[in-house]
Amino acid sequence: AGSSPSTSDGPAPTQASPDCLFCRLVAGEVPADRVYEDDDVVAFRDVNPQAPTHVLVIPRAHVADVGELALQDPALVSAVLRGVREVARREDAASYRLVFNTGPDAGQSVPHVHGHVLAGRSLRWPPG
Ligand code: C5P
Repeated sequence: AGSSPSTSDGPAPTQASPDCLFCRLVAGEVPADRVYEDDDVVAFRDVNPQAPTHVLVIPRAHVADVGELALQDPALVSAVLRGVREVARREDAASYRLVFNTGPDAGQSVPHVHGHVLAGRSLRWPPG
C-alpha cells in the first residue's frame, strides 16, 4: 500500500538492462549522434531517419514502453516530454510529430521506451 501503482509487473525504472541496446547506448557502449541530454533523458538521431529531423528521446532508466513508464514513474514521463520540447526547439521545428510505437504490431522494435520526434517535412495522416 505504498504510493506505487499496483497494476504493473514491470521492473523498476532504475536498473540498466545489460542486453538492452538503448541501455548500452545510454552507457556510451553503442555510438549515437546525441543532440540533447540531461540527468533523466538522452536524445539522439535515428540511424534510419524518416524525416529531415528524426530524433529519439529515451529515459536513461530502462522501461519497456510508454505505458509502463506512466505507471512506474510519471515524473519521468514529464522529463521525456521536456526533452522532446527541447529537441524541437534546438531543431527549430515549429511543427513536429511525436510517436511512441508500443508493442510489435505498432512496430516497436526496441523494448526501451523511445519517443520519435519527426519534423522538417510535411507529414501525412494517417500513418501507415
Ligand atoms: O519504434 P521502433 O522501436 O521501431 O524504433 C526503433 C528505432 O530505433 C528505429 O527507428 C531505428 O532506426 C532506431 N535505431 C537507432 N539506432 C540503433 C538501433 C535502432 O536509431 N542503434
